[in-house]
Amino acid sequence: MPTYIVLLGPPGAGKGTQAEILAERFSLPHISSGDIFRENIKKNTELGVLAQTFMSKGELVPDDLTIAMIKERFSRPDCVRGAILDGFPRTPAQADALEVMLSGFGGKVELVPFFTATDETLIERLAGRWTCRANGHIFHVRFNPPIKEGVCDFDDSPLFQRDDDKAETVIHRIHVYRSQTAPLIEYYRKRGILAEINGSQPIEDVAAQLMGILVK
Ligand code: ADP
Ligand code: ADP
Repeated sequence: MPTYIVLLGPPGAGKGTQAEILAERFSLPHISSGDIFRENIKKNTELGVLAQTFMSKGELVPDDLTIAMIKERFSRPDCVRGAILDGFPRTPAQADALEVMLSGFGGKVELVPFFTATDETLIERLAGRWTCRANGHIFHVRFNPPIKEGVCDFDDSPLFQRDDDKAETVIHRIHVYRSQTAPLIEYYRKRGILAEINGSQPIEDVAAQLMGILVK
């Protein structure tokens, strides 16, 4: 049975960090919609050019573009055993599309860990987030510093601060999350697969709580 896990929560809650840990532990692909968009921006593709206008303002990329992009990702063979989804779905329309996509190859979303944290915590985390240029590995200047300043521990790539992690954009992204993504909390709760995780604990403690739920 394939294992599809959707990580839900506001920007900065720790989805990407925990997705990296889970993907490694379960040998599943980590699918981050934000990373795929950033990859397209780097390569200056048509999708990248379109997505950037929304991302730089902290708005969501329209559903049709996002769904088409994820469909393409799911057409690759590494997704058949399952995947850790980070940042997708972000709207009920995306969640409906995901359900249809997965049912196409006999899969379904098994579990939706939902990370909570106060706005203050989110802002502090995003302000100090450093991301690896090559593969999107995530660090924090205080909470998860790289061994060598400005360099990714895993692939020696330079670390950069995302444009949309500027204070003004961060606050807007949190609003966008509340209005457009938060309805997914009820969406998945109704299906009986939502599991609330206290995202304000240290990284290792969040990972331990998550593991406790996953290997029950
Ligand atoms: P964070 O890790 O801070 O939550 P992401 O890297 O997931 O941020 O997303 C960065 C930006 O990419 C979002 O603000 C949005 O503009 C765009 N994006 C990512 N995923 C989606 C999605 N599923 N639907 C629409 N836009 C998305
Ligand atoms: P998201 O994908 O939900 O936007 P990230 O995983 O990118 O969140 O984390 C945002 C920032 O906070 C990163 O700099 C990361 O290193 C840091 N971080 C993640 N989880 C924790 C945690 N539990 N405690 C402290 N800092 C964290």
